[in-house]
Amino acid sequence: MERRASFRDSPWYSILESLLGQVDREPTLRAVAELACREVQADRATVFVLDPARRTLSGIVALGAEGYPLEIPLDFDSVAGFAALADRSVRVDDVGADLACIDPRLRFNGRIDERVGYETRAVLATPIRERGSVIGVMEALSGTPARFAPGDADRLEDLAAVAGLVLHVSGLYQDIKDLREVERRKSDFIDLLAHEIKEPIAAVHMLADYANTVENDPAERKRLLERIVLRTQQVTSLVNELLEVSRVKRGLVLGEVRPVDLGALGAATVRSMEDMAERRGVKVTLDLDPDAPKARLDDGLAPYLFTNLVSNALKYTDGGGTARLRVHGDGGGVMIEAIDTGIGVPPGELRRLFTEFYRATNARSRGVDGTGLGLVAVKEIAERFGGRVGVDSALGKGSRFWVWLPALPSEHEPGIPPGADGAAEA
Ligand code: ADP
Repeated sequence: MERRASFRDSPWYSILESLLGQVDREPTLRAVAELACREVQADRATVFVLDPARRTLSGIVALGAEGYPLEIPLDFDSVAGFAALADRSVRVDDVGADLACIDPRLRFNGRIDERVGYETRAVLATPIRERGSVIGVMEALSGTPARFAPGDADRLEDLAAVAGLVLHVSGLYQDIKDLREVERRKSDFIDLLAHEIKEPIAAVHMLADYANTVENDPAERKRLLERIVLRTQQVTSLVNELLEVSRVKRGLVLGEVRPVDLGALGAATVRSMEDMAERRGVKVTLDLDPDAPKARLDDGLAPYLFTNLVSNALKYTDGGGTARLRVHGDGGGVMIEAIDTGIGVPPGELRRLFTEFYRATNARSRGVDGTGLGLVAVKEIAERFGGRVGVDSALGKGSRFWVWLPALPSEHEPGIPPGADGAAEA
């Protein structure tokens, strides 16, 4: 008797098993792409994930083009881009034919073919959705014209639905991992904070005790009192930074929400930090675009954007280096950049800098004072007013931290922050 095909023996079951069994989305998406190849008899399949901030599609899995970083702009200049933007499946029987009869906006981009050494003839692309919104594209390719039949689009759509689930579930796993990581960092931070506060308080105690024993030596007593003042200032600034972050996090408005001239504010901030720059031996320059538009934000919080970015540039740059503050109009908004020639950030750590309490390994190992909270506040402030933040950096050479804010008028459709190419956006 013929054995009934069991669900457990099917590739669908293995995908489900893999999906529930591991956090890493890539192997599961690879299995989905392999199944897609078989189902529609394609030579190659690619799963693209959409990065809305950078308006790109990144190939997470590219069967047949392994090892090539595939990133394409989100525009109508490619079949995958078309599927994402038009939010519908598209079948191209021959990429060399006139595609306008499918849709006048549709174009085929042969750049990837050139890079990976393949000649695409037929393409089938379908959007991957999560709760109705397009989050990527699944694309099947063949070197044979008219390889895909009308029913293949339905098959690929089923697989794209599975890919959507994979991305959703792996996103949940990632959220849990991130939450655990935040919890862990919070505990570490509390230990660190206790230490950071205990140490100067113990020192103050000791200095005060000692000061009592040198009543007859005014010079020594003065020296001890000065050290007491310095130590208490350190604790005060740590506590102030904590309070500042906590206020920003709770969404409190410190000043008035109004149009702010960021160039003028940047210049004033740099002036107020000249002493620090001199002490550190770092040359600070200003590069302000007088035509940069204003941005609407809390004028009590706005200075913090500059003090944090500029003081970091000074803190993490050795004497003899430079720090440049740029403020200019960019992509329908205002771009603030702090560019330094400092210690840089290890590449694997870039994205984590904007998370609470995170300090890069090179900053910690150099014993530079810090809390890992400043950039969190910068990100909160920027995002609260519709902006974004990011960083690119070369270890040992320097960094560029940027904040982009939408320009006035506030009803202006927020643009896309430019200058983010290749950089980690937080
Ligand atoms: P803090 O400087 O108090 O540690 P921040 O939140 O301002 O906290 O910065 C987080 C981390 O980002 C720093 O600890 C450091 O590792 C890294 N960082 C920030 N700015 C720079 C910079 N200009 N150059 C190199 N690393 C930087």
